[in-house]
Amino acid sequence: MSGAQPPERDPRAELELLAGGLRRIARRKARGARRVPASGTGAVPAEAPADARPGGAAAARGSAARARATPIVPQAPQAPLRSFEMTPRPAAAPSAALAAAERLAAEVRARARACADLASLREAVAACTACGLCRTRTQTVFADGAPRARLMFVGEAPGESEDLQGVPFVGRAGALLSDIITKGMGLARSEVHIANVLKCRPPQNRDPSEVEKATCTPWLDRQIELVDPEVIVPLGRHAASHVLGTQASIGALRGRVHERGGRKVVATFHPAYLLRSPGQKKECWKDIQIVMGLLGLSRPPANEPSADFHRQPRGPAG
Ligand code: URA
Repeated sequence: MSGAQPPERDPRAELELLAGGLRRIARRKARGARRVPASGTGAVPAEAPADARPGGAAAARGSAARARATPIVPQAPQAPLRSFEMTPRPAAAPSAALAAAERLAAEVRARARACADLASLREAVAACTACGLCRTRTQTVFADGAPRARLMFVGEAPGESEDLQGVPFVGRAGALLSDIITKGMGLARSEVHIANVLKCRPPQNRDPSEVEKATCTPWLDRQIELVDPEVIVPLGRHAASHVLGTQASIGALRGRVHERGGRKVVATFHPAYLLRSPGQKKECWKDIQIVMGLLGLSRPPANEPSADFHRQPRGPAG
């Protein structure tokens, strides 16, 4: 080989140099260092390992390699570095927790997929200890209504009454949901399927956490597959965001038909919200009429559901 040839590129060495430089810059910024060497200058940070300093082993691999490596720093993917290294510690913790939850969710998903019918899925859910809610629940709350249904309602999480009875939507919000189904739609509760995003009650009925949702929703996904509804009605933002895979508000999502996984989805307000804001019942009723149109249901004689409806007796689903 002629000595006039340019030095051969060593992509691995370049990448190592680049990654090392990025890590050091990120660490300095995270520690609040007052001055960070500007990218593109070729400067090697003072605390760089001997290997990267002038005259070190890296230098021996050729200053040309470093010269080629530095200009591409700004083009390196920034997002992962920022989220892990430059985020202050308290904000970094949930990411780690979510990553762990995703690993757990993969296990839950595998167990859920192994359930060939709703009865075995219910059993698997009852044995679930994937998140901390298993320590505070009285029991899991799986479903109510028909094991196979054209229409499925998905709520947020069991409340106190549901946790005690093991059936979704049996408290005050449940009375309103029953009212919507029976008086509003002219159906029996036993004709539809009712489930929740979470299968266990969050203590004090607090909002489900991201970790709890990530860990629990594989059960719901399998439940939807097995119930095989034509139309899903997510009640409130937690259900809507999971079913529709969006962070948009319920106000932005309701009032129209969405398509998800080959199913129609009509999101509406959560009954507990309607109890607090009865003025919004009219809007919910519009959503329910859209659902009825999709299912070819005619409007029952009573025009609007009323909150004083007495629930129908029902058997457990699955
Ligand atoms: N709220 C819900 O979201 N689900 C229930 O089961 C009860 C209240």
